[in-house]
Amino acid sequence: MDNERTIVGRFAPSPTGRMHLGNVYAALISWLSVKQQGGAWLLRIEDIDPDRSRHDYAEQLMDDLQWVGLHWDIGPFYQSERTALYDEQLARLVATGLTYPCYLSRGEILATQAPHESDGRVVYGPEMRAKNAALTQQATTMRRPAIRLRTVSKNISFTDEHYGPQTVNLEKQCGDFILRRSDGAWAYQLAVVVDDALMGVSEVVRGRDLLLSVPQQLYLYELLGFTPPRFTHFPLLCNAAGQRLCKRDRALDMGELRRRFSPEQIIGQLAFLSGLTPTNEPLSPAELLPFFAWDKLPNSDIYVS
Ligand code: GLU
Repeated sequence: MDNERTIVGRFAPSPTGRMHLGNVYAALISWLSVKQQGGAWLLRIEDIDPDRSRHDYAEQLMDDLQWVGLHWDIGPFYQSERTALYDEQLARLVATGLTYPCYLSRGEILATQAPHESDGRVVYGPEMRAKNAALTQQATTMRRPAIRLRTVSKNISFTDEHYGPQTVNLEKQCGDFILRRSDGAWAYQLAVVVDDALMGVSEVVRGRDLLLSVPQQLYLYELLGFTPPRFTHFPLLCNAAGQRLCKRDRALDMGELRRRFSPEQIIGQLAFLSGLTPTNEPLSPAELLPFFAWDKLPNSDIYVS
């Protein structure tokens, strides 16, 4: 009898614009990683931000994935259809006594603490808690609160399968973080943990820009009593100016790429850029599978000129 749990990897794009080369690369690496282990690849559309997500972008990104030869085995799931589950898990967090309503606006938070120069992070610490407590007592406050989770000053250690051992003090790195926004929208950290856990995702493979989210996510796994997946992050694709590719880099969006290249040319180029193959010879994702090895991928970001 086979008691082994199926390995499940996932691709979890936000449908906020046309996919670009960096998104295809992210999909490809998570597909290669799980397929090489004989696992299943799950697609989850992360459309919880009502201001930025669009259904036609979701349709388009699925068409782009199929076109390039990346076919999912499970899904698609839409986060916008799963809000009852987030509600249920939020109630469990509220029951721990570690959550609280936060009435501070972003402007008030920024007036108390300047964002980190390097990455724009704002640490929500004790002075912010005090300011919020004062506001909470004002009977006049008519604002709807966000829900925040209180963090503790403890080091969270984990091993990223590509970037190695990491230790982060949650209180210093981000402080208390949002589970549900004041407009009622769910926060990424809560939705991603609930989904990965309930969907049986065993490996999270994604760009290194999300490496610093792992401690927040591990904290949630612990509080909710879920088993965390394995985490593996990969270097990002950057443009010639050294900035991470984004949906504004039009020349590399899938509309333009589909006009100029075949799916195999795109996969071949990504394989070569990532160091998986010695040349950019066109090939399909399945043909690339035997060449995939984590130790071929660099740690530093990859420039696309
Ligand atoms: N939806 C996130 C994004 O598109 C990815 C989330 C994740 O992989 O954990 O950046």
